[in-house]
This record gives sequence, C-alpha cells and structure tokens, in this order.
Amino acid sequence: MTVFITVTCPDCHSTNVVKHGKSGEGKQRYCCRNEECLRRTFLLDYSYEGHKRSVKKKIADMSVNGSGVRDTARVLKVSTSTVIKEIKKTKKTQEC
Ligand SMILES: [Zn+2]
Repeated sequence: MTVFITVTCPDCHSTNVVKHGKSGEGKQRYCCRNEECLRRTFLLDYSYEGHKRSVKKKIADMSVNGSGVRDTARVLKVSTSTVIKEIKKTKKTQEC
C-alpha cells in the first residue's frame, strides 16, 4: 500500500512539491516547483524546524509582553524548561 503524505514547502507553503532524491544522510529530499520560491529543495525535517522556530519566536514575544514561564508553556504547549531555555537565549542576544 502506498501512503500519501501532503508535503508542503517550508518557505512558500506550496503543495506543488515533488520528490527529489535523497540527502547524504538518506533522508527524503523534496523539490518545490513554485518558480517564485527561493528554497527550491528541502528535507521534510525542515518543516519541523520551522515550527520550532515559530515557537521560539512566540516564547520571546510572550516574555517581552510580561507573560510568566508557566503561562507561556501552557499556551504554546511546550515544557517550562523549553520556555526558560529560550528566554535565557533571548536575553543573551538582546544584551549583545
Ligand atoms: Zn517553495
């Protein structure tokens, strides 16, 4: 049986994506066929990375707005230790 999964491009969110061989680590590589897209090829894992990035951004935003660690963790459905780690990182970059 063939299982179809919808692959969306992490940059342009187009579903006009075709398989494009394997990466050096044997991961499935995809090619975005949207001509206006800058990424063109990507690994499926990147979409997860993109999700993590947006969560990190939200953690930073919420801490700036004065949200507590526990509130932030509950809203974003991540652990409090993740929130604390990200807040520490954010503070470091802001100091530089
Ligand atoms: Zn794309």
